[in-house]
Amino acid sequence: MRDTDPSQDIPCLLDEPIEDWPTQDGKAYRRSQLRTWVFQQGAGSFDEMTNLPAAWRDELAGAWRLDPFASVERFPSRDASVRYLFTLHDGRRTEAVYMPYATRKTVCISSMVGCPAGCTFCATGALGFGRNLTRGEIVAQILSVARHEGFPPSEIRNVVLMGMGEALLNYDEALAAIRMLVDPATLDMSPRRITLSTVGLPKHIVRLADEGLPLTLAVSLHAPDEETRRSIIPTAHAHALPDIVASLHTWQEATKRRVSIEYTMLAGVNDHLWQANALAGLLKGLVSHVNLIPFNDWSGAPQKGSSREEIEAFRNRLERHGVSVSVRFSRGQDSGAACGQLSWQETDRGAYARA
Ligand code: SF4
Repeated sequence: MRDTDPSQDIPCLLDEPIEDWPTQDGKAYRRSQLRTWVFQQGAGSFDEMTNLPAAWRDELAGAWRLDPFASVERFPSRDASVRYLFTLHDGRRTEAVYMPYATRKTVCISSMVGCPAGCTFCATGALGFGRNLTRGEIVAQILSVARHEGFPPSEIRNVVLMGMGEALLNYDEALAAIRMLVDPATLDMSPRRITLSTVGLPKHIVRLADEGLPLTLAVSLHAPDEETRRSIIPTAHAHALPDIVASLHTWQEATKRRVSIEYTMLAGVNDHLWQANALAGLLKGLVSHVNLIPFNDWSGAPQKGSSREEIEAFRNRLERHGVSVSVRFSRGQDSGAACGQLSWQETDRGAYARA
């Protein structure tokens, strides 16, 4: 007896390049109506597309799935952010976080089920790697959040690929998803409002620089010295800091974009003032902004977060060196939605083998 949803055998329309989407009897305007229903109206089924002929809707429903999720669970936080837990049609799970602000709606999405990078301070890293998400599964997180929150997807103008996974290790699908989001025929998002987070993979960053997409690049540096970095980011053994920094210069030359540097503050690990000095030295000549992230605790975490005083001292030291820096408090801590906390909550850690 199969233990997965048989509907997974039907392809998801969102995995198809939008120029190849079906049309009825060669009528181009039907394809465009279909796109409007999906991206502007946020339709989750072909039944809702009332201006399409019923016979064509039946035909579409027999050939395509619109929603790659078998189920969606919603976990609201006191600060109005909402964690979304998506069960895919093969039974695997991934997560997104909706963050409403006064002037914008932001969604943090995942590129993988779990993550192979294994950062010690991150609950997702403790899960191990499940699988890469397809482009459709990445884009559908945004569409699904909009549908469940009750507004059209086009109201989401800010997306961060900072959920589960290392997006650059799922390069082709992550890039295809981004290209779909910025396409004028879909959501027409500004690449500048799409933040791609990476643990720092120099070859991939250089490749990304050639894509002609002025995204916001966020690099999870977390330490300015190899020894500390390797102790908290296992993949750092394969990527030396000078190579990462050189790739960021290449990125900056190509895109003219400021680079975000992510730095989770871990007590007694990476919060020494000599490390602030070293970080300032490493970033010299690069137009960057450092986000100091207070550690968001999770059960079983091997590290503790730095105190408010230590974070302030670290920030002051960076400022004295002329580094642009701010402290970024994460939202959604009470629902397990904050940075580094995504882990399906009720499931076992170490669910998958590390890559
Ligand atoms: S911090 Fe990012 S790259 Fe590291 S394990 Fe977590 S999700 Fe993966």
